[in-house]
This record gives sequence, C-alpha cells and structure tokens, in this order.
Amino acid sequence: MSTRSARNTSWLKASIRLASMALFLLSCSSEPTPAGSSGAPAASGKPDVTKLFARSITNVAIEIDYADGAAPAEGELKNFGPVWSLFNANVLAVFDGKKTVSFPTKVSAMEKLGDVPAKSFSNQDLLDVAAAHRNEASTADTASFYVVFVNGYWIDDSGAEQQDIISVSVGGTGVIGVFKPAIESPLIEQLALIHAFGHAVGFVDNGVPVGEANKGHVDESGKHCTNEKCAMHAAVETAAGAKKYASTLIRSPEAVLIGQDCLSDARLLESTQLSQ
Ligand SMILES: [Zn+2]
Ligand SMILES: [Zn+2]
Repeated sequence: MSTRSARNTSWLKASIRLASMALFLLSCSSEPTPAGSSGAPAASGKPDVTKLFARSITNVAIEIDYADGAAPAEGELKNFGPVWSLFNANVLAVFDGKKTVSFPTKVSAMEKLGDVPAKSFSNQDLLDVAAAHRNEASTADTASFYVVFVNGYWIDDSGAEQQDIISVSVGGTGVIGVFKPAIESPLIEQLALIHAFGHAVGFVDNGVPVGEANKGHVDESGKHCTNEKCAMHAAVETAAGAKKYASTLIRSPEAVLIGQDCLSDARLLESTQLSQ
C-alpha cells in the first residue's frame, strides 16, 4: 500500500490549508544514549525498532511541544513552500509510505510548555520534560514520538554545554530535543528534526541493522552515514554542518534527504517483519 502525504491524519489536514503540508519539528542529533535507565517518559515510548517497522504498526504519531521562546517555524517559506512538508516527506520515506504519519503543523496546535525555562538541557532534563508533558502513548498499532523545542543548548554526557548541536534523540525513548538557540533558519530546523528522527527510529546501525552488503555507508562513529548528501551524515548534527547542507542540498519541500543506503536498511528490516 502506498501512503503519501495526502494520507496524513485527517485532523491534521483539517487544520491546514494544504493537505500536503505537514509540519514537524526538527531535531538534529546526537546520539542515541541508552534508553530508559531512569526517567522513562510517563507515556510509554516508541515500540522496539523491530516492531516499529512491522505491519502491525500502521500509524506514527509525533507529538510536538515547545518551551517559551522556542516555538518552531511554521507556514510557507518564501521561494520554497510549506516548511513542515520537508519533515513529513522524510518520515513517510523512512516508512516507505506504508504508515500514516501525523503531527501538528501549526504552532497553535502544539503545546506551549510554560514551566520549561530557558536553560541548557541534558538528556535526562529532556526525559524529565517528556515525563511531565508527553501525552501520546504508543499502542498496538501506533508508534509515538515526542519532540520538544527548548530554549537552550544541549549538555552532553560529560556535562559540557554543546552550543553547536542542534538536536538530539535520546536513544530508545522516542524523545527528541531541539535546541532553538542553535538553529539559524527554518530549513536547518527541519533538517535537525529529520536527523534526530532518523536516530530515533534506529539509524545508522543503532537499531535498524545494516546488511552485510551495505556496511560501507556506516561511518567511523558507527552511527552516521558516509554519504554527505544523506541527512544522517555526521556533519548534519552541527549548526555549521547543517547550515552548509541546507544551503546546498535542500531544494524542495518534498525532498527526501535521507539517502538510499539508510532507507535500504529500513526496507531490509521491514522485509523481516512482514509476518508481524
Ligand atoms: Zn547524528
Ligand atoms: Zn545515509
């Protein structure tokens, strides 16, 4: 079955003028950290990656919240188009159009978090926000992800503030943090979100296994793609790298930025899940 953006959730479509326009949040990434040792979100996290790509999961729901001063960009970008279509196109591509994808595309449909102050955030801080505000649980047929735009920078696992990191996926939890002060433009914001979502679903070789014939696209870090044109390239994690990528490689709101090698990994995993 083929799913296009037109199959986005009806509630979403109802809320926007263009059915093909979808919005999302952005995230860039850092790495999946081991999930859940503490601070598991109140609403349950995304299903295990092997289930995520199974047929039984027919919906992917992405909840988006934002802190004061960190609202994502929305609407039409001049000389480009509906900015959230970019995230929509890439999430659909991750699932080969086989699942419906839903998320709010207007800031007015996202939850503003009045109790999340401007400050730096560690992964645990992000999980704490999710624990307090995540509303959508994963169910038998729906995988949920939680994105929060915060007004501050990321604090890495050593406790150092990383002003160059634009988003992170807290591995295994389905929680994504986007660091608004590190985001220079709406397209970089979308790219950051696509990159972090890629990590959240298990790219590269972090849940979605890489076939023997495809190992060449896994970079030295073991979690990014060697293809500089792929949104899962390591450089995309940084503000400077994302800026360069966005200025040269994002040409349309429907552009699929995740490269074929990474998408092939997902298809291979999917093919092992056909009976589930
Ligand atoms: Zn990354
Ligand atoms: Zn790739």
